[in-house]
Amino acid sequence: MYKAIFDDNIVNLLNDEYKDKREYLKANNDHFNCPICKEKVRLRWAEKAIRAPHFYHKSISECIYHDSESPEHRDGKINLFNYFLANLQHKTEIIDVEHYLPETNQIADIYIKFINGTQWVVEYQRSNIPSEVLIERRSKYKSLGIQDIWILGENVVTENGFLECSVLNIGQTLVSETSFGKGSLVTYNPLSNEVIVYRGL
Ligand SMILES: [Zn+2]
Repeated sequence: MYKAIFDDNIVNLLNDEYKDKREYLKANNDHFNCPICKEKVRLRWAEKAIRAPHFYHKSISECIYHDSESPEHRDGKINLFNYFLANLQHKTEIIDVEHYLPETNQIADIYIKFINGTQWVVEYQRSNIPSEVLIERRSKYKSLGIQDIWILGENVVTENGFLECSVLNIGQTLVSETSFGKGSLVTYNPLSNEVIVYRGL
């Protein structure tokens, strides 16, 4: 989790303004709260950071805002967030990461609100969640009038030869009805930074 409440404001560790604030934030480590459950959270930011600085709940918590993601998911989410920030900021009112939607109690990986009112969520999905879970998440976004865009991990598709590939269940559920057109899937590999668009699946 990259966001916490501090002094009535949200600190988002992915925003540039906090890049050089390690000492300042560390000095205030007793004053961060979870934006969703409001419990105490703490900052983890090693001097030689192996992973990106982040917050974690101080006590064991049932809160939906927590870190259970793989390093690849975290990297992918950060890279996609930075990509949208760099490319869409002039057309948008809000571009947010780990965005909480209280109406449906969901946290979207990335949330975008355009100046014309159109809303998107972008979900970066690497784990093979059951179809029912995926369908429920999508229908909740739909109920809020939000367009949901699913970008899958490169691990979801295995290419077997030139024109054949096998797609994990999560991809098969999405392929029938995606924002990229029927029969299409988009994958992103955070290590190679490679985006692949599959068509005619
Ligand atoms: Zn919480």
